[in-house]
Amino acid sequence: MAHPVNPALGGHLLAYSGVPTFMRQTPTRDLRGVDVAIVGVPFDSGATSFRGGTRFGPRKIREASLALWGHHPIHGVAPAEALTIADYGDAAIEMASIEKTMANITAEVGAALAQGPMVVALGGDHSISLPLLRAQAANARNAGYGPPALVHFDAHTDVEPGDYEHGTVFRHAIEEGLIDPAATIQVGIRGSLYFPDDLNVARQLGIRVLTIDDCFEMGIPAVVAAIRETVGDRRTYVTLDIDAADPAFAPGTGTPEPGGFSSYQMLQLMRGLKGLNLVGMDIVEVSPPYDHADITALLAANLVFEYLCLVALNRA
Ligand code: MN
Ligand code: MN
Repeated sequence: MAHPVNPALGGHLLAYSGVPTFMRQTPTRDLRGVDVAIVGVPFDSGATSFRGGTRFGPRKIREASLALWGHHPIHGVAPAEALTIADYGDAAIEMASIEKTMANITAEVGAALAQGPMVVALGGDHSISLPLLRAQAANARNAGYGPPALVHFDAHTDVEPGDYEHGTVFRHAIEEGLIDPAATIQVGIRGSLYFPDDLNVARQLGIRVLTIDDCFEMGIPAVVAAIRETVGDRRTYVTLDIDAADPAFAPGTGTPEPGGFSSYQMLQLMRGLKGLNLVGMDIVEVSPPYDHADITALLAANLVFEYLCLVALNRA
């Protein structure tokens, strides 16, 4: 079967040739008739707790995506054939101002959503999820929907109180009514804490928290069941911090925490979202300067591919 390859992007499916848009999809900001827009958000001034470098994430994930051959081995779908996918390029960043950057992201992604497509965002640090969720919430309101359910893969709960940064995102999102905590689940939480009751902070906000110890005790199928039970048939946004994966599988990240999911378990978790009412996704905290052999970027690209397959199955 012929693949939809644009020769201008350096086609022939040689992973090392051509222009690295995401999966070689056409770069355009004309999103009319587009099913999914890939939007890069190369921002890493969100007070990264330890190591920086996620500004290089979108470009490296796009590069790694060229090694995706198109067809999913289990789902039996080829998202670039089943969907019209466009690479929007990157949202405008103001490195010296998180407020201006967030306003840009909300405006650009809002304008993109208004043209019809789903947006899949490539970060950037996790602070970008707040302006992304603002755009999602505004778009949903315009269509008569309430706040979405949230599936949040991460080693960290990111619900600290405080100014805008990557560790406070979901507290702000709840306070602004952008997500429904009763339909929010955090998966993979682990690592040492600032304060002894840090894990209870997310639970007190009404979020269901599955620590990595819960996950490994339950097993992946039960984790998937818990996710599905939490979000049900609601419109669901997925935010995936790559540090949910173990640093042995995803070393290229800002705040690595040993004892996480393997690459395969991450794929299993994403496959477990099959059939959910998916409305958008971001993947964040990929830091190429701390990566080795691009393994973190490759995992990120594959997880986006897995997600796109689910979108394609939903459209079928
Ligand atoms: Mn994290
Ligand atoms: Mn995070």
